[in-house]
Amino acid sequence: MKIVLATSNANKLTELARILEHQGLKIELATVAEFPGAPAVAETENTFEGNALLKARALCSFTGLPALADDSGLCVNALNGMPGIFSARWAGATQDTDEANLQLVLRQLTDVPDVRRGAQFVCAAALVLPDGQEFTVRGTVEGRLILEPVGDYGFGYDPIFIPDGFAITTAQMDALEKDAISHRGNALRAMALILEELI
Ligand code: IMP
Repeated sequence: MKIVLATSNANKLTELARILEHQGLKIELATVAEFPGAPAVAETENTFEGNALLKARALCSFTGLPALADDSGLCVNALNGMPGIFSARWAGATQDTDEANLQLVLRQLTDVPDVRRGAQFVCAAALVLPDGQEFTVRGTVEGRLILEPVGDYGFGYDPIFIPDGFAITTAQMDALEKDAISHRGNALRAMALILEELI
């Protein structure tokens, strides 16, 4: 089975491919970069699952191949679940760098005490098949946000996120450590079970 991954975010692509390959499935992975002219999809839904499905549907219909997309983000309790689906562009569409997004969240949490700095990473993965079948799964990881970035691995909000049960941020974890507990790891392990059935 050949599956095309619907992300152009290099960091997410690396993680998606790594986690799926780790599952030992008999699938061949292609990336959206291998299909010039593939449509850029606006994330217009208001759920992670809805946006993942939009991306997977568009790529499946463009390539004629099964397409797998993820939509993910950081949900901060003190911000009523935001940035959520807006995580990639929280600081504004014109300055949507990981650093600007992370610094804005830290500024918004100024004065919020440790006990109220709970947050959750969420990842919805969607698989769309050429015959019209659609599957979605969700993975999460609970944790809390610290006051300043620590760690050089990962991407996005990793340097300020400490998962429950750990004393280090996800940016201090090596790839396999992060995959074992991450929202993306949890979602894709659930998706791997579906893929196994389909294969
Ligand atoms: P998406 O491309 O719309 O799914 O946006 C994902 C955004 O959520 C990223 O740009 C990051 O800001 C954030 N995010 C998602 N997953 C992670 C992660 O594993 N670590 C850190 N930030 C993440």
